[in-house]
Amino acid sequence: MRIVTGTISHETNVLSNIKTDLEQFRKRRLLYGEEVFDYLKGTRTSVGGLIDGCDDHGFELIPTVFASATPSGKITAAAFETLLGDLLDGIRDADPIDGVALHLHGAGVSENHTDIEGHILSEVRELVGAKPVVSTFDFHANNTRLMVDSADVLIGYDTYPHVDGYERGLEAIDVMTKLLNGSLKPRKAFRQPPMMPALQAQFTGRHPMSKLMEEVHRMEEIEEVETITVAAGFPWSDFEDVGLSIIVTTNNDQLLAEGLAKELTTSLGA
Ligand SMILES: [Zn+2]
Repeated sequence: MRIVTGTISHETNVLSNIKTDLEQFRKRRLLYGEEVFDYLKGTRTSVGGLIDGCDDHGFELIPTVFASATPSGKITAAAFETLLGDLLDGIRDADPIDGVALHLHGAGVSENHTDIEGHILSEVRELVGAKPVVSTFDFHANNTRLMVDSADVLIGYDTYPHVDGYERGLEAIDVMTKLLNGSLKPRKAFRQPPMMPALQAQFTGRHPMSKLMEEVHRMEEIEEVETITVAAGFPWSDFEDVGLSIIVTTNNDQLLAEGLAKELTTSLGA
């Protein structure tokens, strides 16, 4: 199997007056092709997990672009279009492929898109048609309906501070194998309780987040549940979808997904 990967990652603070242009990505990390593996293979990162997961399953992983800039202001339209073009060109060049496994942040805003991840995933979807598309995300993702509808499965970190990026990368490839062999038919429920937790309250080692994540992990033990993501969101992205969100993905059971998403929402008092 040939899986293609890419990353466009930014945690955007729209109140910052530092524009995030390509130079800002170059300053932190902007890599292409094999450079991505040279830098990330063997690391406990999401992309490190995608690489090892593909090795474990005997999949060929094809790198495109890895772009990450330090949290700052809106991504310029020019920079975003360049990076998205690099990703889409990379996927086209990799053809024939069997699936796409990305790592995105989830709190990116550009001058021309408030929801860059939704736009990225919808463009990837349009390009690859029905082929499986999975992506890992930061715990600070502001998940949107467009993101959920454009990908087959979204897998967010379970921790803040983030210590499970690698495990989520492995999980993404595990999910990819099930999508490819047809044993997983994802049915997703998506909820956005009206909550915007401050970052100081997002620590997953302490109440209330610890209790919420315990509940998530308990539900993930249910046989038909494939994965559950609770993302706390990033307030400073400041657009209509900012805030906490819940994505429950089951194997072919929409009712169960909706029921668990509702239960988690209720447990938050929302
Ligand atoms: Zn984060």
